[in-house]
Amino acid sequence: MSEKNKTVLTETEEQIFKAIENNDVVLLKTLLSQVKNVNIVDENSMTPLQHAAYKGNKDLVQVLLDQGADVNYCEHQHTYTALHFAGLSGNSDVCLALLLAGAKSHITNTVGRTPSQMAAFVGHHNCVAVINSYIPKSDVDYYTTEPPNKAPYLPPFLAESFHRFVMQTNINPIKVVLNVQNFVGISEHLSEVKKVLELMCEREIKRGADRNEVMSFKFHYLGYIVGEILKVRQRQSAKKDESEEEKKLDITELFTRKLLKPGKDGHLEFMDSFLKECIREFPYRDCTLFRQMVASLASKDPPTALSVISHAINGQRGFEDSLSVCNTCGEEKPAKKCSKCKVVQYCDRSCQRLHWHWHKKACPRLSQMIDTDPLTKPDAAELSTDLQNLLVNN
Ligand SMILES: [Zn+2]
Ligand SMILES: [Zn+2]
Repeated sequence: MSEKNKTVLTETEEQIFKAIENNDVVLLKTLLSQVKNVNIVDENSMTPLQHAAYKGNKDLVQVLLDQGADVNYCEHQHTYTALHFAGLSGNSDVCLALLLAGAKSHITNTVGRTPSQMAAFVGHHNCVAVINSYIPKSDVDYYTTEPPNKAPYLPPFLAESFHRFVMQTNINPIKVVLNVQNFVGISEHLSEVKKVLELMCEREIKRGADRNEVMSFKFHYLGYIVGEILKVRQRQSAKKDESEEEKKLDITELFTRKLLKPGKDGHLEFMDSFLKECIREFPYRDCTLFRQMVASLASKDPPTALSVISHAINGQRGFEDSLSVCNTCGEEKPAKKCSKCKVVQYCDRSCQRLHWHWHKKACPRLSQMIDTDPLTKPDAAELSTDLQNLLVNN
């Protein structure tokens, strides 16, 4: 802590901290209009913004930011930034507000943890996902703006949807494929999108001290899937003697059907080997994140590649942690259930339709099992294992 900040706070400044403590947004606004500098610290070397972030109060945080609070100002003795505190608070909106104001997400505290790692440590996965998926719009604009004497990498109209595409928090490959289809203009510019993702992957790893391995891997991951869609499309247009049924399917359907194909033991074998290949092809093998992923895949009783990737990109969470996810795309809290078996869940009809090709075989068996109440049966344990296998299978 520097000498100048040890100076005693004025009465108004003291009141600022009090107003934050009491969640008094109106008073805070009034007080802030009476001071010139909001980047002050209390006896714990914390700024008003850090306190507001720790309280997880979005309104307080926004008022402070609007009044010129420096989002990265940090005198805290363990170098917890405002974003560290926001991650601890569990309010992902506060995290987003700070990120939009330019908070740096890779700064480590004195125990070597970034804001998202701190959030993961206390189980606030919503914050982890927001922090890890955040990308400044300016990063994207760079690729959609015309450099002198050269066309931009991406057509400028793509800026918005491409920004949303790279910030997606659900990284289930099916969801990525669906977003390629749903976000305006992406599927018409797959080669350019893939190229830009490769450039962004490289840029994150070559930032020197600011290097961001998580983001670099995420860009690689998205680029890999986009590349695969391109390949499927090229193969498709080269094929002449395909069956009538295949002709009717679009690329999304062909590719997602392949990814969702259940293997013999109930696991999504094709998806797993596809994602393992994606990890293997990450070009920056000297980075810690890559080595961690490879180590966990090589461990005894390894997790699925999807959960390894999800762990790498979104923190601790694996998809298997949460039972209530869409069977097709992994989106949380799906709204619909299969009307026949009432077991498997989906976001909507289109997710159900993509899965039906595989689910239709198991659906009748699943319905039967549900009809017999497993709790009243002597072989309840066995039955529920069967049920679980079936669920994995579907
Ligand atoms: Zn879904
Ligand atoms: Zn069903």
